[in-house]
Amino acid sequence: MITHHPTPDFLMAYSAGSLPEAFDLIVATHLSLCDTCRAEVGSYDALGGALLDTTAAAELTGSGIDRLLTGITSDRLPGDDSAAPPSADPDLPVPLAAYVGARLKDVRWRPVGMGVKQAILPTAPGATARLLFIPAGTAVPDHGHRGTELTLVLRGAFEDCGGRFARGDVELATPETDHMPIADITEDCICLAVTDAPLRFKGLLPRLVQPFLKI
Ligand SMILES: [Zn+2]
Repeated sequence: MITHHPTPDFLMAYSAGSLPEAFDLIVATHLSLCDTCRAEVGSYDALGGALLDTTAAAELTGSGIDRLLTGITSDRLPGDDSAAPPSADPDLPVPLAAYVGARLKDVRWRPVGMGVKQAILPTAPGATARLLFIPAGTAVPDHGHRGTELTLVLRGAFEDCGGRFARGDVELATPETDHMPIADITEDCICLAVTDAPLRFKGLLPRLVQPFLKI
């Protein structure tokens, strides 16, 4: 059962479409595993829709409507995930599969020390997404948090002063966070970790939420 969720700031910014790609990816991955947060994002989406309804309409030209209709008939409908590639690995939620490939075991890991391995995922600049492989019973080598870091567990579990984090759980670390995550002794732990540009942390969340409030 998932007990650690992204903060409302992240869910709201996800709904507003204002998150950097790497953060968008980790929130989407959590939502695919968490009914509670999916419902919360749904309520933010509804609020955004209500705001759009009260916004003065901009005129759409005839050719614009034609393009839109062509897109609707040739593409999948919103909410229809049948076009998404199925994930061959039960540990790999669909939003991640597009970045990783079909299976976690095919990931091209690079060692970072103490048996820990990582694989950087291709996302837009502004934030970085990486998969982390932490051998069972291993403590993650010290890595300072100079910005915001979100960590989502895909397989296994880890524990630190913030509690125990298992599949689907998200931990938020900030420069004030001082912790040493240790993987469960019973199983290797695989996580998705996302960080932003270190020096831009101070204004990150206000910046993310701003476009939403301006809709
Ligand atoms: Zn959640």
